[in-house]
Amino acid sequence: MPVSIPERQLYIGGQWVTPCKGGRLPVVNPATEETIASIPAATPEDVQAAVAAATACVESGVKERKSFLASLESMDNGKPLAEAEWDVDDVATCFEYYADLAEKLDARQYEPVDLGMDGFECALRREPLGVVGLITPWNYPLLMSTWKVAPALAAGNAAVLKPSEAASLTSIELAAIAHDVGLPAGAFNVVTGLGRDAGAPLSSHPGVAKIAFTGSTATGRHVYLAAAQNLRPAVMELGGKSALIVFEDADVEKAVEWAMFGVFWTNGQICSSTSRLLVHEAIAPAFYARLKARAESIKIGDPFAPGCRLGPLVNDLQYEKVKGYVRAGLEDGATLLTGGQRPAHLPRGYFLQPTVFTDVSTENRIWREEIFGPVLASRTFATEAEAIALANGSEFGLAAGIISADAARCRRVQEALQVGICWINCSQPCFCQAPWGGVKNSGFGRELGPFGFEGFLSVKQITTYTSPDKWDWYPDAPASRL
Ligand code: NAD
Repeated sequence: MPVSIPERQLYIGGQWVTPCKGGRLPVVNPATEETIASIPAATPEDVQAAVAAATACVESGVKERKSFLASLESMDNGKPLAEAEWDVDDVATCFEYYADLAEKLDARQYEPVDLGMDGFECALRREPLGVVGLITPWNYPLLMSTWKVAPALAAGNAAVLKPSEAASLTSIELAAIAHDVGLPAGAFNVVTGLGRDAGAPLSSHPGVAKIAFTGSTATGRHVYLAAAQNLRPAVMELGGKSALIVFEDADVEKAVEWAMFGVFWTNGQICSSTSRLLVHEAIAPAFYARLKARAESIKIGDPFAPGCRLGPLVNDLQYEKVKGYVRAGLEDGATLLTGGQRPAHLPRGYFLQPTVFTDVSTENRIWREEIFGPVLASRTFATEAEAIALANGSEFGLAAGIISADAARCRRVQEALQVGICWINCSQPCFCQAPWGGVKNSGFGRELGPFGFEGFLSVKQITTYTSPDKWDWYPDAPASRL
């Protein structure tokens, strides 16, 4: 032979690995018809391993570009740079977490099922769904995309992502990272554009095996209908109007900080924002005095300025919508404790002062509807039962927070709240290991944690007849089986 041909294996995750099924394909020299070498024969399991390995590499790509991605996010979305950096850290952690889960899945690819009888053996096999359609909003552009992309790819699916037209820059960069780290061609695709032109065709595409949607409840209805027409499963992460209940035994200073963080973080544009605040009447005067002082001292302005805690809203549309809600609060008779105006030192940009209303009635629009801006609607309560009824009196059911020193009460109230996420003595913390999602009009299905991963897999039942005997179904046969 003119050259000697090395016998190579599959190259996955920077290593030479034998194909899962061990197969090889012959290489025939067409001039001599002799077999001169062999190549490894990859099967779907190997492809899944390659995608999982590449998913793990995305994490390092994201870490390397942290500063660039965070700046891009801040410029596109308006969130303070410090928060965008925090998001990028979460993005890297999420990719790492799902790459690890994918490895564990490989180990239990065939999971035995105990049938409780002889003659048959049964196992479960988790398989990717195929091509999944992912549609995301603008409030955490890169992070919301990652919550879907990371588990979808790690589970071995191919993904088509449609990020929000209001903030798509970092999702496009995610595609660049995927390309640079060698994700297999076609595994990850990004289509930017308007909802009606790019999102709608994706949600109704018959070739899509599942739709994972995060966005408003109104759009969610359209997307779910489209998926239903094709009988495709969907996960719906929709809007919210979450309550934070502050009981009379709370440490006022700590409670005020969680109340502020719960609604002003990410400029108030958070699905789970605790934008309805319930304060026990016994501590209300002290609480509101502290809240007003703290809200008025928030640093608002250029997202890149050190110490900035509130940037602009995402665009003029959202700005006008949120200002409309400030007017609605006043029209409906709520008391403006603080804010409601463009800050005097910021003549340009979509800036709104951190805004707090008190004495908000349950009929007020600012109590019932999702505002998605730095506007807090608050009222007092007298009893635990009243607080629970007020918190549950919403069409939404994404999250809720309870602030109290009494652990037994926290548990009681938590069990009574109709929500998918409950925070005790805090508001908003979110970890990729723990499930995320709502009930009622906040949607259904769960993202993050093992639930978020399982959602991108299909379970196949494999049952094998292992008895040496004939099945003996015919009526004249002896009843010897099993
Ligand atoms: P949106 O519903 O306007 O848009 C979400 C996405 O859907 C965008 O990519 C948009 O282009 C696309 N879209 C619009 N019309 C479509 C159609 N007919 N078919 C398919 N896709 C379509 O939401 P938004 O304004 O981008 O985001 C804010 C909303 O997202 C808020 O209601 C917020 O509560 C919600 N949200 C929920 C969660 C959660 O986990 N539950 C997280 C973040 C945001």
